Amino acid sequence: MANYSDIIGHEDIVRHFKSSIELGKVSHAYILNGEKGVGKKTLAKVVSQSLQCETGNPDPCGECRSCLQVESNSQPDIIWVKHDKPNVISVDEIREQIVNDIELTPYNSRYKIYIVPDAQMMNPQAQNALLKTLEEPPEYAIIMLLTSNVDKFLPTILSRCIVLNFKPVQPLEMIEYLEDQLGIDKAKAKFCTDFAQGNLGKAVRLAISSDYNEIKEDSVRLLRQIHEMDMEDVILAVKNMGKYKLDITDYVDIMTMWFRDILMVKISNSPNKTIFKEEFSTMKKQASRTSYEGIEEILKALNKLKIRLEANVNFDIAMELTLLTIKENM
Ligand SMILES: [Zn+2]
Repeated sequence: MANYSDIIGHEDIVRHFKSSIELGKVSHAYILNGEKGVGKKTLAKVVSQSLQCETGNPDPCGECRSCLQVESNSQPDIIWVKHDKPNVISVDEIREQIVNDIELTPYNSRYKIYIVPDAQMMNPQAQNALLKTLEEPPEYAIIMLLTSNVDKFLPTILSRCIVLNFKPVQPLEMIEYLEDQLGIDKAKAKFCTDFAQGNLGKAVRLAISSDYNEIKEDSVRLLRQIHEMDMEDVILAVKNMGKYKLDITDYVDIMTMWFRDILMVKISNSPNKTIFKEEFSTMKKQASRTSYEGIEEILKALNKLKIRLEANVNFDIAMELTLLTIKENM
């Protein structure tokens, strides 16, 4: 069963909710803002469980009727808003599942809680429909909008919600979680943590992937020879890695880790602080061939590549530009 100990990091957000519950000062509307995989749904689940727990304590008891209903996803006063189309939450969906439903008092709990995952997908009409509810919510209503992009909300929505931003999880906390809770060995936990850049969901996805070794090997094979390869070969190689079901930007992250390692090797001439330790001799060669400015340029290009891919730019073109920068600087 989920409780606050399942939430890794995000202490300030947990503290915020716990003290609001304790003081009885819970707001009617929250925006939980943070990238995909960071733990918004887990947090919303635990918070809504504690709000509805019959003991009234900030920590859910796990034993009362409400807590047990949360466990079996059947708490009738916690409503997870669903949508049919993949990229949009329509005005009808918001009306049906929130605006009209909220008029009915809770079945048997203190609150009626609405959780909207991917709330940035609400189109302007849907947001406007919700706005009226946010302006005059019933006493018992709590609405939680979960989002990876707070900029998609109308200013009128933002001004009526408490916005809580998820910060990256600290590396040590993440390594500890992977080792202790998932039984991942130290080297792998370290690699996955570096890869995830503060996003626990991402670290877990790689750590428990049955393709972990292949992903790492394929990436290393590519990075060892990237400066000698043809454009087509590289693009093909990166596309082939797509079979492992990570996001394409995940491979850009792995490439970034590699070049950060090269920078580290250039500075310290030692494998100590590197992620790809076993590749020390290759990295040493690449480091000697590349200037500090060159590595900087490559890291900048990779960062730009990631931003472009997230904006859905054509993969081949974006990758080609990046490879040119890599080749020019190695
Ligand atoms: Zn309870």
